Amino acid sequence: MSDLFNLGVLRASTRLDGVPRYGKGRPGQKSSFAHRLGSNEAPDPLKEDVLAAVTSALRDGNRYPDLRGETVSMALAAIHGLQPDEVTVGAGSIVLLDQLIRAFCDHGDEVVAPWPSYEAYPILAGISGARLIRVPLDRDHRLSPAALLAEIGSRCRVIILCNPNNPTGTALAEEEIDELLAAIPRDVLIILDEAYVDYSVAPDEAASSPGRRLRKHTNLAILRTFSKAWGLAGFRAGYCLSNRSVIDALHAVAPPFPLPGVTLAAVMALLSRPQLVQARVEQNAAQRSKLTDELRSMGIPVADSRANFIWLPVGERATELATHFTAASVAVRCFDGEGVRITSGTSDDTAAVLATAATWR
Ligand SMILES: *Cc1c(COP(=O)(O)O)cnc(C)c1O
Repeated sequence: MSDLFNLGVLRASTRLDGVPRYGKGRPGQKSSFAHRLGSNEAPDPLKEDVLAAVTSALRDGNRYPDLRGETVSMALAAIHGLQPDEVTVGAGSIVLLDQLIRAFCDHGDEVVAPWPSYEAYPILAGISGARLIRVPLDRDHRLSPAALLAEIGSRCRVIILCNPNNPTGTALAEEEIDELLAAIPRDVLIILDEAYVDYSVAPDEAASSPGRRLRKHTNLAILRTFSKAWGLAGFRAGYCLSNRSVIDALHAVAPPFPLPGVTLAAVMALLSRPQLVQARVEQNAAQRSKLTDELRSMGIPVADSRANFIWLPVGERATELATHFTAASVAVRCFDGEGVRITSGTSDDTAAVLATAATWR
């Protein structure tokens, strides 16, 4: 790995030494899997009227888009009952996560997160020069508040809570999250990564919980994305809700023009059609419970998921199970030695997963 960064006299920053890379063993965008269940995307393509909004935005391609994605951030502020300067957008919530960590961590600082969780966390902590402290999940694959609080030391600057958690799908109840937020020291930035929130709570709660929490906690930043339940992964759009000082720090570390005009148009079209998201969420709940019930009845362990994927904690047999799915043209995500994550997609996808699992011993 370090060979890449050691081209004669040219040398990249030592911060990059030992930082893992994205997308290990991930099938490429053009790969020909019949069932693409490795990235928790929405299974259905863009609806015609959303597509029409995007197409018309293409005509303005000669112009720069909003300096800070204001069209979208103002609409989001209204939806969440916040001020416009308490919201900012980025080309995916992963970009905002990177900005937050860079804005708050110095070399040698610590970022604490439950583990296993989103694979980007150790990478983003690493490139900012910080160290990720991994706190093991409990026996039910859930975040353990007590274990997490015990790991907050004097170098801890950031805590990342992913709820529902990727890759396990498990979630703390809203009251449990509130209790945990209250127990974390005020000088630690809490990043609440809610990429899957639309799958786990009612729309009213998803709209109102950020305002309620931000009024109580000045050290909180909430991340949301349009890539999952909103079905716009290819457009790259996510947002952060926080107090205006945190939002200002995010702007300080990012170049302007974060979202292309076509992305702004796609997001605005969807924000005015929340029923599309609700339909997707309901369809997903049906597929997820079918997958969970039937895999369990085959004797395969499945964690309780509140997201659009399921976690099979098969431990040592993870690679073998993932290979079995891949051979059947079902793309899944393998976490070596821990488990396999499978996106719940269409009823066709569900049928393929169940038929493939039935032939695994
Ligand atoms: C998918 C995902 C994201 C980021 O998605 P973007 O496409 O970058 O918005 C962030 N956090 C978690 C836990 C995810 O699973």
